[in-house]
Amino acid sequence: MDHGLIGEHLPHSFSKEIHEKLGYYGYELCEVSRDDLHRFMTERDFRGINVTIPYKEAVIPYLHEISDRAKKIGAVNTVVNKNGVLYGDNTDYGGMTALILKSGIEIKGKKVLILGTGGTAKTAHAVISDLGAASVITVSRTKSDTAISYGEAVSLHLDADVILNATPVGMFPSTDAAPISLDSFNNLLGVIDVIYNPLNTRLMLDARERGIKAENGLYMLVAQAILAAEIFTGKKISAEITNRIYRDILQKKQNIVLVGMPGSGKSTVGKTLAAELSMPFVDTDELIVKKAGMEITEIFSRFGEEYFRDLESEVIKEAGLLNGTVISTGGGAVLRRKNVNELKKNGKIFFLDRPVSELIPTDDRPLADKKEKIEALYGVRYPIYCAAADITVGVSETPENTADAIKRFL
Ligand code: NAP
Repeated sequence: MDHGLIGEHLPHSFSKEIHEKLGYYGYELCEVSRDDLHRFMTERDFRGINVTIPYKEAVIPYLHEISDRAKKIGAVNTVVNKNGVLYGDNTDYGGMTALILKSGIEIKGKKVLILGTGGTAKTAHAVISDLGAASVITVSRTKSDTAISYGEAVSLHLDADVILNATPVGMFPSTDAAPISLDSFNNLLGVIDVIYNPLNTRLMLDARERGIKAENGLYMLVAQAILAAEIFTGKKISAEITNRIYRDILQKKQNIVLVGMPGSGKSTVGKTLAAELSMPFVDTDELIVKKAGMEITEIFSRFGEEYFRDLESEVIKEAGLLNGTVISTGGGAVLRRKNVNELKKNGKIFFLDRPVSELIPTDDRPLADKKEKIEALYGVRYPIYCAAADITVGVSETPENTADAIKRFL
């Protein structure tokens, strides 16, 4: 192997994509079982590797040299093979530092809770201490000399300023889980979550709903990979390249979700946008029709609106976990707050704001087949669309112009 990533399970890794965007070397994802690690590390049939769960500590005995930083943290994520001599370093430290600085969440002088006691939590502890936090408290499921319990966190440390999640809780596919409830943390300024799949975890969405800044782990992932590439190649890689790769990956993973009134042009604009950005397109109403095996008017007339809304929630939960897709939703998709949260997990929500006078009734929309019904719906739903949306876009005369307006926000 030239360069690559070793770990036990790597099905969702973005590392190949990030390293190959640099164009310096080939990069393979290499699943190594625990039983095979000894053979892999003693054969040394690679030029440079990154190391992930569960081998960041296990590789250390095979190294001839190790950086002071990796030694201090007790974990190695980058190994270079220089003519049979293995040198280990830790670029998670630099990646974590870059993430925290990018987030704009102030650490100096603050009280920070770190959730978890694994390798990433240890890295976070080192970074946050070095950034000048007033106190850094580790929270674990198992209380110890160095970690408090979750019970103690919510009884003794509700004045924490920042929470950093370094556990896998909330990661795909268990995206409904959150490691801690934010209910009583009245002082909280920011939440950092090292998870990047989904892009917005339940913990992050809970924070934003309370007006608290929240940042995911994608920038850390890209920054640590770029720092590893610098070690592999001996070349300095500019911050612009890091930011460009981060934006490329984000755009590839992030959904563009269109919400708005029936007849506001979500499907037409969505298809236009998808074609222009070479992204897949889905329409949640079409997914409902497919799932139910009948048209929406028939679902309404045979089973009623509540049944339709339940089907819609099921479809939205599935669509919300897609990546890099333009998703057009039905007019009532955002009436349930849980649907909005599902759509936000990987998506940016755009409200297509078309004046009520331009919304035309049609027979295939049971709630919008008369002008009066549309006007009544508009009055009720307008604030709901505004509250659900990350961005409101006025609908232009052509779908291309509206798509352009959306692209300006990406
Ligand atoms: P790890 O060694 O497995 O540690 C995770 C810690 O989380 C454990 O020590 C455990 O602490 C806690 N934990 C595990 N399962 C839990 C559960 N079900 N409920 C509550 N706590 C649980 O993993 P890691 O290497 O530190 O990675 C942690 C997370 O960071 C992973 O999601 C990983 O994908 C992510 N990560 C992201 C980046 C990035 O670049 N963004 C880089 C590295 C890792 P206690 O037993 O003490 O509670």
